[in-house]
Amino acid sequence: MIYLDNAATTRTAPEVVDAMLPYFTRYYGNASTIYTLGSESKKAVNNAREIIAGSLGAKPEEIYFTAGGSESDNWAIKAAAEAYSAKGKHIITTKIEHHAVLHTCQYLEKNGYEVTYLDVDRDGLVDPEAVKAAIRPDTILISVMFANNEIGTIEPIGEIGAIAKEKGILFHTDAVQAFGQIPINVEELNIDMLSASGHKLNGPKGIGFLYIRRGVKIRSFIHGGAQERSRRAGTENVPGIVGLGVAVERAMRIMTEKDKRETELRDYLIGRIEKEIPYCWLNGHRTKRLPGNVNVSFKYIEGESMLIMLDMKGICASSGSACTSGSLDPSHVLLAIGLKHEDAHGSLRLTLSEETTKEELDTVVEELKAIVARLRDMSPLYEDFIKSQKQ
Ligand SMILES: *Cc1c(COP(=O)(O)O)cnc(C)c1O
Repeated sequence: MIYLDNAATTRTAPEVVDAMLPYFTRYYGNASTIYTLGSESKKAVNNAREIIAGSLGAKPEEIYFTAGGSESDNWAIKAAAEAYSAKGKHIITTKIEHHAVLHTCQYLEKNGYEVTYLDVDRDGLVDPEAVKAAIRPDTILISVMFANNEIGTIEPIGEIGAIAKEKGILFHTDAVQAFGQIPINVEELNIDMLSASGHKLNGPKGIGFLYIRRGVKIRSFIHGGAQERSRRAGTENVPGIVGLGVAVERAMRIMTEKDKRETELRDYLIGRIEKEIPYCWLNGHRTKRLPGNVNVSFKYIEGESMLIMLDMKGICASSGSACTSGSLDPSHVLLAIGLKHEDAHGSLRLTLSEETTKEELDTVVEELKAIVARLRDMSPLYEDFIKSQKQ
């Protein structure tokens, strides 16, 4: 099997699993108890919190564990909207956010909030000047993702953070794809809230965190207990938290090397596809791009068919095509960068990991060449196109 869908989820690193196991069977105490068994859990939770805070330039008390990226996004946006509603009810975000942000904003719109969804350019970049221009006296929150999960584009977060700070507006970023892949410092970038998720950085699924800068007024998300400074009640997922801590420690340790290696492999893969497969193009920014992300559109191809044929060859990939999401519309991200519907349907996302090898990519290119040729042979649109070329 060749796994190239690391933006969807990653393999849990063996050292993460090893670190978690004792917290299921040996140190299973509730972290809120006072006996020794419970304090082992508490120590482990605090240790993970310190590792994560250190990786971001934050303080441990600014890290709140959640059940993942979606929960962190929901919490940040809903609770900030509620806490700051006396100041105003206007939120600024972008058209290319993850659905955890977009659908939360749509929910708030039904409850009396107004949301500005900013356009992006052809490469998927948000213009900081457009953020500035969208600010109104009643704007209470700006939420812009750190890096896009489909096309890999890395946004100018520092510039947007500086604008938010100057205007005194809360700034949230969904950093689920970026955290653990590229360096992030919440102080330097003026980030007030940041969402991250374990399973996108070789940690376990169902665990993540929300960074909330000290002083930010934010409501509790889950009521019921004193956990997470009473803001997110519920017995701590100790094994998950331990696993997340180790995953973050590991990500920081291997970041420079992983970045260099993946960027080289990424550009090698992009180069081969562009050179060897006709009528295709790269989506997303060529250099302001996550190290492991490749997103290509092939003309006259249906993404779904491509995925099925790749799967038959043991290759896991993803597409911006419709059926995967259960709707008829193709990816909102690909439409936002200006692709036509049919071209968005013909997109393929390949996302690398530190385990990806050049040999695997060579295999993928060879299979892809054959698959694209076969699918185009069956496409009436392609036939028409070829005829028109000959005239
Ligand atoms: C995966 C992802 C999420 C959701 O994270 P979960 O932990 O799966 O809930 C949110 N935002 C982005 C950008 C993602 O890639």
